[in-house]
Amino acid sequence: MFEYQLKRSTRRKTVAIKVSKKVVTVYAPMHVSKTSIEQWLKIKQAWVDLQLNKQLNFIDKQQRPLKQCQVLIFEKPHTLVFKQSASSYVEQSDDVLTIYTSTRVKKLSQKRQQLLCQALEEKLAAYIEMRLAYYCQLMTEALPTKLTFGAYKRKWGSCNSRRELTFSLNLIGAPTHVIDYVIVHELAHLKYHNHSAAFWSRVGKFYPDYKSASAWLKQNGASLQWEFDN
Ligand SMILES: [Zn+2]
Repeated sequence: MFEYQLKRSTRRKTVAIKVSKKVVTVYAPMHVSKTSIEQWLKIKQAWVDLQLNKQLNFIDKQQRPLKQCQVLIFEKPHTLVFKQSASSYVEQSDDVLTIYTSTRVKKLSQKRQQLLCQALEEKLAAYIEMRLAYYCQLMTEALPTKLTFGAYKRKWGSCNSRRELTFSLNLIGAPTHVIDYVIVHELAHLKYHNHSAAFWSRVGKFYPDYKSASAWLKQNGASLQWEFDN
């Protein structure tokens, strides 16, 4: 059920509904119970959704929260679609990412950004956690103590002496084998805190094709950045 404002009046004889500026208002006579109003609204649900979406599309043309309308998820382009709903959530189909924001949300573009980042981070985290488990075993390293993701502009990953690892959220657009390279690179830093020959030989031992993965990032890295209008 959608959110609505209920306005009762003694002069009213019938129940009516209005959708304006993304707000649903229900007008009702004093004597009509809340239960029968809600029953009536259930029948109206589809019509209300349609009105809310129409109004949202109109707003979309005026304020574009993202500079692009597409995001890459493991190399595959997904079209971004923004809709309104009773609650805020993200839905992914084959090549569409639909971001639903609640009609109560005030800072719309900020909320969409947050929902998008959260959804992409969940996907990236799920993949990286799985591959970290695999590579830690392969490289006989203990699992990292902490794993964080961020919108870093100039780095793909980092690690420190407390065995805390960070990864750039932009990696979500990269091919999975390139993400694997970043994982091995960071895990190799747990032994060598530099880019010495010994470090690269450790990377090469567990990820032999590291030169082409690293070259891929240099060449395509900029295209993985997403930008927001603020
Ligand atoms: Zn490094």
